[in-house]
Amino acid sequence: MTTLPQPFIEQIRDQLGEQADPFLQSYDDARTYGLRLNPLKLGELSPDDPFIRSMKERFRLSPVPWCPNGYYYDETAKPGKHPYHQAGLLYIQEPSAMSSAELLDPQPGDCVLDLAAAPGGKTTQIAGSLQGQGLLVANEIHPARAKILSENVERMGVPNAVVTSAAPDALARKFPGAFDKIMLDAPCSGEGMFRKDPNAIREWSPEHVRMCAERQLDILDSAAAMLKPGGTMAYSTCTFNRSENEDVLAAFTAKYPSFTVLRTERLWPHLVRGEGHFVALLRKDGSGETDRSTSGRRGRDRDRGRPSDTSDRTVREAMRLADDLLGEIASGFALPPGEPALFGEQLYWLPAARHDPIYAHDLNGLKTLRPGLHLAHIKKGRAEPAHSLAMAVNAGMCRSVMSMQAESPELDAYLRGETIPAADGASGWTLVTVEGYPLGWGKASGGQLKNHFPKGLRRMG
Ligand code: SAM
Repeated sequence: MTTLPQPFIEQIRDQLGEQADPFLQSYDDARTYGLRLNPLKLGELSPDDPFIRSMKERFRLSPVPWCPNGYYYDETAKPGKHPYHQAGLLYIQEPSAMSSAELLDPQPGDCVLDLAAAPGGKTTQIAGSLQGQGLLVANEIHPARAKILSENVERMGVPNAVVTSAAPDALARKFPGAFDKIMLDAPCSGEGMFRKDPNAIREWSPEHVRMCAERQLDILDSAAAMLKPGGTMAYSTCTFNRSENEDVLAAFTAKYPSFTVLRTERLWPHLVRGEGHFVALLRKDGSGETDRSTSGRRGRDRDRGRPSDTSDRTVREAMRLADDLLGEIASGFALPPGEPALFGEQLYWLPAARHDPIYAHDLNGLKTLRPGLHLAHIKKGRAEPAHSLAMAVNAGMCRSVMSMQAESPELDAYLRGETIPAADGASGWTLVTVEGYPLGWGKASGGQLKNHFPKGLRRMG
């Protein structure tokens, strides 16, 4: 039986009354396992599609009621170890955590900020809703976690995300009034993590709850500054106490009367299949148009015009090399409106947001792991395709493709980083896929496929 801190039990009894017993008993039930299928890879997910049906059988999926792409899975099926996971067809995510991005409801073309984003559950869910249109800034303050976030953005084939690692107030100084929608999935005392992670029980205390609530209000100050008038924000936690949820919202709306709480949802683990979540949708008064015409940031940008980086000869030359490469290996892939960004030898494509673009120079001074889609590595007058590009294209766009079955020894060898025999007809840069879904690049020559699957992702053992 799970041993819970006595002050936590008292807090819950006070909060839930006669519902407290069934709630507390739920800590002795088995935890739930969830995944989301990736619409960026799988398109419109008709449940009757044969591929989706085969996924459902393989991982014994059953639908999560509040998320159309969300499923419970049988943990013995281990979807996280399957090549489909490496191909970004799915993201492992706790089912109740899927509720916040559904409530935020991002639309293609929106400019969205995910302010506390690692490891990327909500970011990749938002990216699925954006369908590659608009811009998503995913930020994570802790550098090691930001790296994981960036890898997940890449694996899921997100073409229109910037990944930064900044403190919320530093980001707010760069992007006042910039976002149509903001997700703040706040760091919290994690009462909904107790079944998943015994450390969360050890770290819990009334003082920790108070400290979390203060930090949440601090982060909300920055979120408030970055939301456009007329924009919406989702605030969520995976904790149950009122201090970090309703009380934080009350203090926030008292400080910022332009914000209204439109709706709150609580997912309780004794009432639904999930570890539990709190989510609120807030709206900031006013219209985005007014804000854009008066915002200091936009005024400055207009004075400066397009960033000088774009006209820089080195960037133009790098982009010419990348364009030639794309034409040669993935001519079916069209870049959205945007601008190139060259970080050292790495060339990225930063898509433009609908109304209020974020330019590459806006990222100056911010630790940026990914200033858009990583297109190519430029070295010695040549462009080599980036792994991110492989994950963002589809097989139909590419000139040379080599597809393998999930269980084949060749696929296993590719994922281990080995050179493998090239398929008949494969030549030059070749997109390697699992059953048609991209995994990475190889370079075919003389009947062999030189392995370009990133070293850090290779299977060991
Ligand atoms: N949204 C993520 C997802 O769906 O995968 C989970 C986010 S988790 C609940 C909260 C995140 O906030 C953590 O990654 C943590 O590192 C970050 N964090 C911690 N302290 C922070 C602070 N002071 N400001 C901003 N983020 C912070």
